Amino acid sequence: MRVMIIGGGIGGLCLAHGLRGAGIDVGVYERTRARTDWLQGYRIHINPDGCRALHRCLPARGWAAFDSTAGDAGGGFGFYDRRLRRLALLEPEMLTPAADDPVGRHRSVSRMRLREVLLDGLGEALHEGREFVRYEHTEDGRLRAHFADGGTAVGDLLVGADGANSRVRQQYLPELRRFDTGVVAIAGRYPLTAESEARLPVELTSGAASILTPRSDSLFAATWRGGPRTGVGKAGSVDTGDYVLWGYSAARSAFPPDLHDLDGEALRALVSERIDGWADALRILVTGADLASVNALALKSMPTLRPWPSTTVTLIGDAIHNMTPMAGIGANTALRDAAVLTRALTDAGPDDVLAAVTAYEEQMRGYANRAIAQSLRNARQAASDARLPRLAFGTTLKIAQAVPPLKRALFAGLGS
Ligand SMILES: Cc1cc2nc3c(=O)[nH]c(=O)nc-3n(C[C@H](O)[C@H](O)[C@H](O)COP(=O)(O)OP(=O)(O)OC[C@H]3O[C@@H](n4cnc5c(N)ncnc54)[C@H](O)[C@@H]3O)c2cc1C
Repeated sequence: MRVMIIGGGIGGLCLAHGLRGAGIDVGVYERTRARTDWLQGYRIHINPDGCRALHRCLPARGWAAFDSTAGDAGGGFGFYDRRLRRLALLEPEMLTPAADDPVGRHRSVSRMRLREVLLDGLGEALHEGREFVRYEHTEDGRLRAHFADGGTAVGDLLVGADGANSRVRQQYLPELRRFDTGVVAIAGRYPLTAESEARLPVELTSGAASILTPRSDSLFAATWRGGPRTGVGKAGSVDTGDYVLWGYSAARSAFPPDLHDLDGEALRALVSERIDGWADALRILVTGADLASVNALALKSMPTLRPWPSTTVTLIGDAIHNMTPMAGIGANTALRDAAVLTRALTDAGPDDVLAAVTAYEEQMRGYANRAIAQSLRNARQAASDARLPRLAFGTTLKIAQAVPPLKRALFAGLGS
């Protein structure tokens, strides 16, 4: 059996390791030779599911490299009002229920370092500079992939791991399209040095903070520390030291129509204007962002996935369940797909690829639909103009903070 994976991103590369580890012949076809998009400069949160999937798929050396490069995603999660008055704080212990599990815990890792770890050891299985265009079924029941350079490759299973705008999905499930949630997020990075850190209160420099407002907008901040600084990585983009990531979200109608033409400076000024009158520290956070890191993102999402008949073409990661970044679980779900598909193909054996794909897709739709729903709920809440639920949520948080058992009950399962 030969598996062709289209796309060498987080999900595709993890799957390639898993399959190679199981002795399955695999080829990964990635269109770029170096990733340089703005996201590469950011760190990513890998939750216990994502860590377990990496542990299952990576060879021992790859796992050790990941483990040593990943920082602790520690710190609590605080809810505040616009004046930065605390409504509730979820302590780190509440968010890390599996603290004694050396594998399944929360970590933060630079995307660039994660990519380097995932690229390592794939050898000839990795084909860079190969842009997938389309596939066809061959007369002997196999699949042929066509690439932009005119070349082709043949295999028994084709896995689309080619991200949110997946060409594999466009050909295979053309009716399945992402929709615009109507929510826009502007995000930036506030670099942390001894001097810049001194300008912010501890609420904004440890863990994560969600700023709730009675209006139809919100601000999120998360501190990313730890993990070695790698300077300029092999992929060519600049890796960063410690920083606070902030993201301001509101309905699209709250922004000017030319939002996506604005540069970092104009976007930063726009957010600063929108949070006029909020706590000074929040304005310092926004105006202190590194201009090159400020970007606007129209949040899109897949609808709920309905079953389709399984074949020898399948999809993993953003290609099938792209979701808003508001739950921080897109990559974790892609990694989980890689582990579940590896297990299904290993259990079914080479003669029953279809049974393996069916088992994978059934399981994947369950957890992917839950993840899509959660990230959509978060995105809509962040920009909702329903004043009453916002006030009610704020009040609930304050009460929960005063009654610890209620707080535990309210947020049970949040960190798992
Ligand atoms: C601002 C932001 C923050 C986020 N933070 C988090 C977080 O903290 N935790 C988390 O779990 N998730 C996070 N996510 C989501 C996460 O980035 C994605 O879910 C994840 O990258 C998906 O992985 P993937 O392998 O499916 O796709 P990708 O990583 O997008 O990889 C797809 C690959 O396919 C290649 N490709 C595309 N088309 C072709 C083609 N035609 N031929 C060949 N190759 C092709 C691309 O070059 C790319 O390498 C965040 C997303 C955003 C936008």
